[in-house]
Amino acid sequence: MSEIKPPAHEDNPTASREGVREGSLDAPMRYPLAWRAPEFTDDEALYAEMQRIFDICHGCRRCFSLCNAFPTLFDAIDESDTGEIDAVPREAYWKVVDHCYLCDMCYMTKCPYVPPHEWNVDFPHLMLRAKYKRLKDGAKVSFRDRMLASTDLVGSLAGIPVVAETVNAVNGTKWGRKLLESTLGVDAEAPVPKYASKSARRRLKDKVGRKDVAAEPAGETRGKVLVFTTCYGNRNKPSIVEDLVAVFEHNGIPTALPTKERCCGMPKFEMGDLESVEKLKETNIPELYRWVQDGWDLTSPIPSCVLMFKQELPLMFPDDEQVIAVRDAFYDPFEYLMIRHRHGKLRTDFKQPLGKIAYQVPCHQRVQNIGLKTRDLLQLVPETKVQAIERCSGHDGTYAVKKEYAATSRKIGRPVARQVDNAKADHFTSDCPMAAEQIASLSEAAKATSPLELLRRAYGI
Ligand code: SF4
Ligand code: SF4
Repeated sequence: MSEIKPPAHEDNPTASREGVREGSLDAPMRYPLAWRAPEFTDDEALYAEMQRIFDICHGCRRCFSLCNAFPTLFDAIDESDTGEIDAVPREAYWKVVDHCYLCDMCYMTKCPYVPPHEWNVDFPHLMLRAKYKRLKDGAKVSFRDRMLASTDLVGSLAGIPVVAETVNAVNGTKWGRKLLESTLGVDAEAPVPKYASKSARRRLKDKVGRKDVAAEPAGETRGKVLVFTTCYGNRNKPSIVEDLVAVFEHNGIPTALPTKERCCGMPKFEMGDLESVEKLKETNIPELYRWVQDGWDLTSPIPSCVLMFKQELPLMFPDDEQVIAVRDAFYDPFEYLMIRHRHGKLRTDFKQPLGKIAYQVPCHQRVQNIGLKTRDLLQLVPETKVQAIERCSGHDGTYAVKKEYAATSRKIGRPVARQVDNAKADHFTSDCPMAAEQIASLSEAAKATSPLELLRRAYGI
């Protein structure tokens, strides 16, 4: 198999990831996902690979505190007759799979055995392979899980005026949440997003399909940016897209919205539904590629969606030149602004200090290997100090709202909430609005404000 590298943006010194690994002398890399190969879903091949990697993890155990997948695995081994992986029943393997939400943190922050190490441990991709195989074998997907992964369909229904208000009102009551829990298995205490009756694409309709703009390049940035709004940004929190557009335009960067847009595919990816990911890609990639060909760079306000285009789709479709061109043009918004700052193209005439900010760095942004660009940019604002918290919120897409995992999810998120409370900051922020809501709900007093909104406030725009 050939190697696939992350995009080497100029302000991304760790794109090659040299020197950032513990216990490995070579720069780590990732193999493309061979999801169409017969072996990928072959029973014996999969179990053999699970047994091999689980055994390596058993001897290592560095990841015991990252999520609940590893404690589930280690408990199963410790409780087995021999205390070794060969005595663990295969059914127990699937419990490990169920607790993995593909945050990639084990691969990125802990594992010394990732490729090119000869042990070739890629735990998240093994979990993804198992999830995909289970679906291929005809595993039943519950109505709830299908609904939670169909973010654009649910958003377009729940976002209809009147329907949006009704859904929000019902979700805002105790009896409504109890009903949702007993009928669908959506945990009654988990924060669920509100729906906006006027989507970001409607609010910013003058920017949809906009083409005729002049741009000022700086470094590798071409100076005009297409904003992929995302399901969440479009239907749940349109203000995040408006803030992004306002901040970019204030910095002389013209913005536009794609003519058509569907879900990036991350919720389906996390379920292992790779065929559905491919269908979504067939709408999004040709559209985004056309914009890239017209000289536009790409960004999006949600880290998981950025990661989908930067990493997951290229790993699934390494030979698709449109996917690779889109990957190379896609930036995290703060990464983009900081590149332009390096070339003297970021406005620093801030009008309002922000004080102390407690900042949770979401996993799917850390995985992009771009460094803490959100922190660095916010700290350019005078009288502003950012305390970064690099720990998982436990939300991870849909894990937090599923009744059977919600308590575990809160357990993972609580230490972050404690750090936020102890920081006694003026603001609490996270690039991921879902992680932010989860942490705020576990905190004593923190209220989440997105970093784009904070930046907009600092500019006074
Ligand atoms: S990818 Fe994340 S959730 Fe999955 S096993 Fe690794 S750390 Fe746990
Ligand atoms: S994923 Fe790597 S670091 Fe984590 S327990 Fe397994 S072998 Fe150890």
